[in-house]
Amino acid sequence: MAKFYFDDDADLSALEGSLVGIIGYGNQGRSQALNLRDSGITPLIGNLDDAYAEQARKDGFDPRPIPEVAGRANAVFLLIPDEVQPQVYRDMIHAHLKPGNLLCFAHGYNIQFGFIEPPAFVDVVMIAPRMLGRGVREAFVKGVGFPSLIAVQQDYSQKALARTLALSKGIGSTRMGVLMSSFEEETVIDLLGEHQPALYALRAEYEALVEAGYSPEAILLDLYASGESAVWAQAAADLGSFDRMKLASHTAQFGHLVWAQRQFDPERTRERLRTMIQDIKSGIFTREWTEEQRTGLVRLQQVWAQNRAHPMMEAEERLYRILGRRRIPAKKTVR
Ligand code: NDP
Repeated sequence: MAKFYFDDDADLSALEGSLVGIIGYGNQGRSQALNLRDSGITPLIGNLDDAYAEQARKDGFDPRPIPEVAGRANAVFLLIPDEVQPQVYRDMIHAHLKPGNLLCFAHGYNIQFGFIEPPAFVDVVMIAPRMLGRGVREAFVKGVGFPSLIAVQQDYSQKALARTLALSKGIGSTRMGVLMSSFEEETVIDLLGEHQPALYALRAEYEALVEAGYSPEAILLDLYASGESAVWAQAAADLGSFDRMKLASHTAQFGHLVWAQRQFDPERTRERLRTMIQDIKSGIFTREWTEEQRTGLVRLQQVWAQNRAHPMMEAEERLYRILGRRRIPAKKTVR
């Protein structure tokens, strides 16, 4: 049974005399910084001097160049995109680290696959929120907190766990509970979730229903555009994945629980998942993703273009215009 830690297990005094630095003021960086400040730990923000830095200033912080933050802070959160972390670490952080500093990651990837190799004289820990950046702030403000997976990879100070728990409390995570994990466990579980072909299954369902003669708009509303699926996902979080079915009609229960089971091949699925896990653990996925980045994200751009040109996206555009739905700009798409 994995071990959980809550507010009572964490003591902010483990950070006494420490300056906390947050590198990056994006999804996670901004929310975690605001939460820390509201917990009485005002962090120093490290960012390039651009729009994100401007946001930090608007929020009342005084963003500084990244090397300065790496040199002044005792505990440094690395909250920039995973694919740029190795270079930023090499160029702006590594040389500034001092014995006893703590480096905190929000995802295990770069440590697990050796893209970042911190010196032996720092603590290397992880606090990986199981929550989008926006939710990290919202859950803190509501006072409910959000869960995180934590890990201690390197414990130079002999106080790495106490410091990690204090930081977890500061960002509001021990309110709900943090789970002792490892960089490997967090990385494998996270990547496996991202490798599921759910988007393509959704698209195939759309294609089959259109082929059967039904209206794209009616299909999209049912699949996800109404927002019902978000309520359904929340019901799983609140009640449990199967127990949420008690909210559904008996017809829906018979469909989801009995009829759908016939379409499901557990052995084939498990075999496929075993291979996927192996491809992550062995580094096959990582090698391909690294090569993709090295060659300018060409395949990713091609697949974006294919998806944008798919009739489902065109129908979605029409439907969202009719509904007056504001679509959030896809900040992370490949441009
Ligand atoms: P974002 O994409 O929101 O990061 C944006 C920040 O990174 C900005 O401050 C941006 O500043 C900075 N940045 C981007 N490129 C560079 C660069 N080349 N050099 C220096 N700074 C750069 O990141 P997330 O918050 O999404 O992710 C941060 C970490 O959190 C990752 O490890 C991720 O895996 C993890 N995580 C993210 C979750 C999420 O909800 N998004 C959930 C759980 C974990 P500027 O553009 O000014 O340089």
